[in-house]
Amino acid sequence: MTTKINDLRSALDYLRTIPGQLVETNVEADPRAEISGIYRYVGAKGTVKRPTRLGPAMIFNNVKGHPGAKVAIGVLSSRARAGHLLGCEPEKLGFLLKDSVSTPIAPVVVSADQAPCQEVVHLATEEGFDIRKLIPAPTNTEDAGPYVTMGLCYGTDPETGDTDITIHRLCLQGKDEISMYFVPGRHLDVFRQKYEKAGKPMPISISIGVDPAIEIAACFEPPTTPLGFNELSIAGSIRGEGVQMVQCKIINEKAIARAEYVIEGELLPDVRVREDQNSNTGKAMPEFPGYTGAMKPAIPLIKVKAVTHRRDPIMQSCIGPSEEHVNMAGIPTEASILGMTEKALPGNVKNVYAHCSGGGKYMAVIQFVKKAPPDEGRQRQAALLAFSAFSELKHVILVDDDVDLFDTDDVLWALNTRFQGDVDVITIPGVRCHPLDPSQSPEFSPSIRDVGISCKTIFDCTVPFGLKEHFQRSKFKEVDPAKWVPELFKK
Ligand code: MN
Repeated sequence: MTTKINDLRSALDYLRTIPGQLVETNVEADPRAEISGIYRYVGAKGTVKRPTRLGPAMIFNNVKGHPGAKVAIGVLSSRARAGHLLGCEPEKLGFLLKDSVSTPIAPVVVSADQAPCQEVVHLATEEGFDIRKLIPAPTNTEDAGPYVTMGLCYGTDPETGDTDITIHRLCLQGKDEISMYFVPGRHLDVFRQKYEKAGKPMPISISIGVDPAIEIAACFEPPTTPLGFNELSIAGSIRGEGVQMVQCKIINEKAIARAEYVIEGELLPDVRVREDQNSNTGKAMPEFPGYTGAMKPAIPLIKVKAVTHRRDPIMQSCIGPSEEHVNMAGIPTEASILGMTEKALPGNVKNVYAHCSGGGKYMAVIQFVKKAPPDEGRQRQAALLAFSAFSELKHVILVDDDVDLFDTDDVLWALNTRFQGDVDVITIPGVRCHPLDPSQSPEFSPSIRDVGISCKTIFDCTVPFGLKEHFQRSKFKEVDPAKWVPELFKK
């Protein structure tokens, strides 16, 4: 990589140098449903409603109601682009992240004059302070609210001093109020509950518009990053230097120094709000499984104390059901599965792909190498390890190493020619998975006792070891096609 990427601006500048990776528009666009509606056609992909496509990231230079601000969307909405931004071949991103977990580099603290995120400071005590005017948070569908979808939430355990960074669902609820939804078990919620028990507010910083390496690293979950593991140190490892943090202006917490925006606030003890209290639609926002999540009737509330930002700030946003979520959630999922299977079954798992249709969380394709007769059956062991490495995983498809796991047509070919439904489907019912999958409800299946419980399933599309010789793909002659059509095979 020629350019050093350490924040959103340097990432966008780098994308400008690569054909087809970034487009900009000066035509005014409304953050209320329009920006996401446009980007759906430009490059959202993932699980959004069809038609959509893989495409460039996009910058909106003229955001209705927010003079001087820009909105960037889809920065990580293609695996190829994620590879460019992390300086890695797209197929190897899972390995890069796995290695980064084992070689963490801790964040460093810089002084305020080294922190561009504090170039402009707005205090909540000032007359006219209103986060809805300060932050161009897009409303992704008309039945949703304005959400900060790419907010890096950072907090500290009041007892141990451990820290955690995670992206959460944040809805702007009023001039200085933001609701925060926690999927049960999230580390920041563990910290929050300790503060609440002590009757104290929890300081929390929300950094928006940062180095994409931080956004991907923040999506790791346990057991790869157990409680107390600061995921920022994974981003530090990717870049070879610690992420720069700065002391917040008002609250006793740190924030990402090179962010575009930082919201400083406190999670209030014993206060809950209804997530759709302004829209009254019963909906929250479009989520990664491709459906608009139901509103939560009573979730924690952040009281905002200050908003700081760069001059000419760039708001960063994403569409929940987009390829961007697939990469942010999926590449850490791949890293987690690779890490666990490499320890337990060294040399057998060649690669893993957290498939886009599951938003990076629900489905993994595992490429398994059977080298000797005892490897028969170990492919299923690899699938069981994958479920342990990432608890929200629902489906595993096992393929042999001559199948291109990133090519869904090839994976389905294996399903058609190397799979028999009565013997190659392994179901594990009654396991807790992820609450946003709408098929995980007692009404959907009698085996489900509670919302969020699911049947994990393995689709074993590998050839039994003893039959391998009957499953050789047709062998075409090896040639260099560039001799005949150089324009198609430029080196
Ligand atoms: Mn964590």
